[in-house]
Amino acid sequence: MEQIVIDKLHDILSSDRIFTDKADLYAYGFDASIHHATPDIVVKPKSSEEVEEIVKIANEYGVPVVARGAGTALCGQAVPIHGGILLDMTGMNKIKEIRVEDLYCVVEPGVIYAKLNEALAKYGFFFPPTPGSGDVCTIGGMIAVNASGMRAIKYGATRDYVLGLEIVFPYGRVRFGSKTLKNSAGYQVERLIVGSEGTLGIITEATLRISPLPEKRAVALASFNDVVKAGEGVAAIIASGMIPSALEIMDKVCIEAVKKAMGIDLPDAEALLLIEVDGKAGEVRESIEKVAKILEGKASQIEFTDDEERMAELWRGRKGVLPSLSRYGEDMVSVSLADDMSVPISKVPYAIKEFQEIAKKYGIIVGTYGHAGDGNLHTKVLINPKSPDAWQRAEKAVDKIYKAVNRLGGIASGEHGIGITKAPWINGDIETMERIKAAIDPKNIMNPGKMEQWRKSIIAYLRYR
Ligand SMILES: Cc1cc2nc3c(=O)[nH]c(=O)nc-3n(C[C@H](O)[C@H](O)[C@H](O)COP(=O)(O)OP(=O)(O)OC[C@H]3O[C@@H](n4cnc5c(N)ncnc54)[C@H](O)[C@@H]3O)c2cc1C
Repeated sequence: MEQIVIDKLHDILSSDRIFTDKADLYAYGFDASIHHATPDIVVKPKSSEEVEEIVKIANEYGVPVVARGAGTALCGQAVPIHGGILLDMTGMNKIKEIRVEDLYCVVEPGVIYAKLNEALAKYGFFFPPTPGSGDVCTIGGMIAVNASGMRAIKYGATRDYVLGLEIVFPYGRVRFGSKTLKNSAGYQVERLIVGSEGTLGIITEATLRISPLPEKRAVALASFNDVVKAGEGVAAIIASGMIPSALEIMDKVCIEAVKKAMGIDLPDAEALLLIEVDGKAGEVRESIEKVAKILEGKASQIEFTDDEERMAELWRGRKGVLPSLSRYGEDMVSVSLADDMSVPISKVPYAIKEFQEIAKKYGIIVGTYGHAGDGNLHTKVLINPKSPDAWQRAEKAVDKIYKAVNRLGGIASGEHGIGITKAPWINGDIETMERIKAAIDPKNIMNPGKMEQWRKSIIAYLRYR
């Protein structure tokens, strides 16, 4: 990077918010994906004005800019593969406004999801998307990836809550959307930014819709001796017209991994469904009784609980699947490949069966869990990351998995996004995406080379040596 760019950055930010030390740069080169690349410089802006000035300099000198929230992205979205400036957005972490009477809040992009919900809970409200990484991930990262989680079946994804955004594009700072719940006043560019993964502009402020917290929750844990039966259970619950607040599935590999790594009391089964209902106390009781009736004869065992401690333990087990998988076998880690496909709800059990067959054929282990209620599955590939042969087999298996997903009418990502790792299977017309990108970012400085621009094998820029 040219010295003049570094000098100009020093004119904008104090030195304690500029990082050029080798170790810092190396550490900032990771997200939670299989990829790694080192930025030339890291800066930590504190205001929209600073972001605007930084981006202006980057645009003038054609330097790549990659925004980074908490770095929990699973597909390499926050990895600066072409070097350049990494913007650490965690310094912009103010909750600017909470207006429950108008059902919105205004936040800076570096606010952590759980912190926002702590603040909203004091008013009896919450911001519902609930990603598994919610204790650490930022609102900016969630918007940029359209994150969601186990409550999406009832409450939707981040995009459903974005009312307005302030964005810094290469040509300047602009605002789209509003603080109103309805808006038919022009292009909804704020929607275009949702899921754009930092490839168009930097989000510097967000106005988000909020929801009242439910009064009560209850959970049913149903065990199945066949994954297809579990899938039939899911389809029957959805077809009954009830919308649970969560409907999660875990296959045998995941159940065993959680039991082994976390010591959580789960039944031995081929598949588990974790079903949560929420609402007023009376409604919750009625809904959970309905679940019991629907699953009668399908599940081999059902546990019901509204005990806060047991519910917290079960959710801890579900959220712990991902780290637990890395402790499943000797010399094996869970790598984020093919980790987030979405299929029509009724196709979930067939998808899981196909994934298991593909894994067997290519000699790898695939654990599958996820949001069965909305058809969004998380397969985790377990391999020895030091074995080039294992990577090759995994890449072939991943391609077969996505082909199966397409055959079943699904898409590559339901919530984790595209980045590098899912780029070959991106959904939609690439030429249109490139036209939008070129119109907003003609010098291609915003997170270049990702999504529709990635053309190579996904086994690239590996974090593993
Ligand atoms: C254990 C674990 C569990 C997870 N569970 C879920 C889950 O249930 N659901 C889910 O959806 N995801 C999940 N994820 C993936 C990830 O946590 C989410 O995508 C999250 O929203 C990313 O937020 P972040 O702050 O870490 O963003 P980062 O990883 O830092 O960045 C993600 C992308 O957003 C861009 N970005 C960040 N901030 C801005 C900004 N201000 N302006 C423009 N672009 C920006 C980055 O450039 C990058 O492209 C999980 C990850 C882990 C490690």
